[in-house]
Amino acid sequence: MTQVERQSWDVVVIGAGGAGLRAAIEAREQGKRCAVICKSLFGKAHTVMAEGGIAASMGNVNEGDNWQVHFRDTMRGGKFLNHWRMAELHAQEAPDRVWELETWGALFDRTPDGKISQRNFGGHEYPRLAHVGDRTGLELIRTLQQKIVSLQQEDKAEFGDYEARLKVFQECTVTRVLKDEAGERVAGVFGYERESGRFFTIEAPAVVLATGGIGKSFKVTSNSWEYTGDGHALALLAGAPLVNMEFVQFHPTGMVWPPSVKGILVTESVRGDGGVLRNSEGKRFMFGYIPDVFKEKYAQTEDEGDRWYEDPDHNRRPPELLPRDEVARAINSEVKAGRGSPHGGVFLDVSTRMPAEVIKRRLPSMHHQFKELADVDITAEPMEVGPTCHYVMGGVDVDPDTTAATGVPGLFAAGEVAGGMHGSNRLGGNSLSDLLVFGRRAGLHAARYAEETASSGALPTPDDAQIDLAAAEALRPFSAEGGDPSSRAPRSTVPAENPYTLHQELQQTMNDLVGIIRKAGEMEEALHRLTALRVRARRAGVEGHRQFNPGWHLAIDLRNMLLVSECVARAALERTESRGGHTRDDYPEMDREWRPVNLVCRLADPSGEPAAPDARQGQIRLERRLTPPIRPDLLGLFEKDELVKYLTDEELTQ
Ligand code: FAD
Repeated sequence: MTQVERQSWDVVVIGAGGAGLRAAIEAREQGKRCAVICKSLFGKAHTVMAEGGIAASMGNVNEGDNWQVHFRDTMRGGKFLNHWRMAELHAQEAPDRVWELETWGALFDRTPDGKISQRNFGGHEYPRLAHVGDRTGLELIRTLQQKIVSLQQEDKAEFGDYEARLKVFQECTVTRVLKDEAGERVAGVFGYERESGRFFTIEAPAVVLATGGIGKSFKVTSNSWEYTGDGHALALLAGAPLVNMEFVQFHPTGMVWPPSVKGILVTESVRGDGGVLRNSEGKRFMFGYIPDVFKEKYAQTEDEGDRWYEDPDHNRRPPELLPRDEVARAINSEVKAGRGSPHGGVFLDVSTRMPAEVIKRRLPSMHHQFKELADVDITAEPMEVGPTCHYVMGGVDVDPDTTAATGVPGLFAAGEVAGGMHGSNRLGGNSLSDLLVFGRRAGLHAARYAEETASSGALPTPDDAQIDLAAAEALRPFSAEGGDPSSRAPRSTVPAENPYTLHQELQQTMNDLVGIIRKAGEMEEALHRLTALRVRARRAGVEGHRQFNPGWHLAIDLRNMLLVSECVARAALERTESRGGHTRDDYPEMDREWRPVNLVCRLADPSGEPAAPDARQGQIRLERRLTPPIRPDLLGLFEKDELVKYLTDEELTQ
């Protein structure tokens, strides 16, 4: 039996980004004892990197805004594939979540009359993003941390212990969600401390996944090192399905030069505040890329687009502010047509659009980022930008109201790890609001579930065998040297694999074959390569010991990235249309017949290990599922002319 440290809590939250912290605060406010576990240092979650702002229809800058308009924009942005109930809850509750942040101490930028300022972003009809310069995520995390500290102070006063009801386990990685002996309900988590390598188990009836995204499976990405799809994989391994995994957002504007910083995000606020995209001929090319579904809503001339910044009520917005998928594809086409910038991007210019002091005040991080990393002064010259893997719309299949993961009692998911909310494409700013709205709901319902389970008198406990298996799985990279012990091949002929090499090959595969523009043959090739990589990853070997060993950490993360990448590739191959973040070269049109179809990924063998050494078959089983019909009163928010472009004839008749 493996010796591990064991603790017992009511609710475990995996992840200390916006979703995880908001969930933890709620669970604690419901009176539950809540443990938060995070891979990085507390406060360093990916959410910190968020720049542009939080979308919420507070109507501070334009009184025409309300939740119905926000709902409409979100559904349009997601090309109507969003789970309508999530989009509804999100639009309705986002303003309260922002005001709540303010009462907890967040210092947002202000309008001249002292309200929370809101800025324009792609796909949002009105200025809607509450922001703090271009460092909004930092303020969001700072505020949530501050709230946690204040709750801990209350607990100190009441129980004499700061961590009596809310404790953060930082620099700890969870590798398995544990189940009860019947293998049905959640019973806790298994993980290791990154610094010491020691294993631990936390028993709890309710576990919230808030682990963020998957971007580190792609070579060019804006995402941080934490984004290895852990929560997605933990859910699959626990028996919960993933949905919409073919939809990966390639943000149109990442840095393209120098190579060491390729992929780092250039915030959409640059365009929201007036920045324009030009090709090597100096042309504002986006005017040539307005798709039919958006034609009536976007300016057809530069003059009209420019006037919109001053008079949005009488002009239409410039096409630089189309949803991200449209802009990313347009940039890709310009570069392919030979009209790109010297380093393979296009030009994004604010220098001719705003005075230098305004640029420095409104976009301080961008000014600093380009000066420091590329020696470009954005107040005097254009930036070079190109698409970068940014966000995954797909994720754990959840109940919209409670965030409960399908089919696994006790498992909840919120934030980027959850699927459904954003459909085929997320609008900028809708993630931070998603984290707060569904983070709160996850904490609330996890706490209620924990309460019900405790009062039923049947608290689930994980058996020792599961813990032994989890420990053996985590330790495998130390025994891979000279060959996988379970392989029949002689040890000397099966050398251990380097986890860094495997990771690079995986990233290159996903980038080249399942990237921004996809083709059937390439995705089939990607699936072959992923199978081969998975077999090799079983032999990923590391040297040294368990104390802070990054090679070992990566070897463990590879399991998750490979699982998630297969989901993306399989679902992308299956969906024979182009929609939102999924663009098929061989099926370039959006097909209404695909509108009501969700692709659901499950582990092919939920009882077994994810990758047997000689596995040639995929690990993922894919099924089609019809989406629930959109509620008629919500459909009534759209003109029929618009619905005809998206819904099937059958849906329209109904
Ligand atoms: P995260 O904030 O990433 O937190 C994940 C947490 O899970 C971390 O604490 C991590 O350590 C932990 N974790 C992961 N795996 C494990 C594991 N196995 N064990 C333990 N812990 C684990 N969105 C907007 O709405 N507006 C913006 O302006 C905006 N700007 C952005 C700018 C950049 C550069 C980027 C990259 C994204 C931006 N986004 C923005 C998107 C948004 O920031 C993210 O979608 C969001 O922060 C995700 O939050 P989260 O709480 O789901 O996950």
